[in-house]
Amino acid sequence: MEGATNCLRCNRPLKSEKSRKVGYGPVCAARATAEREEAEKLEAAETKPAK
Ligand SMILES: [Zn+2]
Repeated sequence: MEGATNCLRCNRPLKSEKSRKVGYGPVCAARATAEREEAEKLEAAETKPAK
């Protein structure tokens, strides 16, 4: 078995094979990507080297 059958974010059943592989529906995938990028941005700002 591969991936998830329900969205890891909203727990709705995933209809497409692609969504199951990703683990999110299309909307949640976009949200998850945006959140991850935001978190990486914050992390990068926190670990900014001192001049
Ligand atoms: Zn979802």
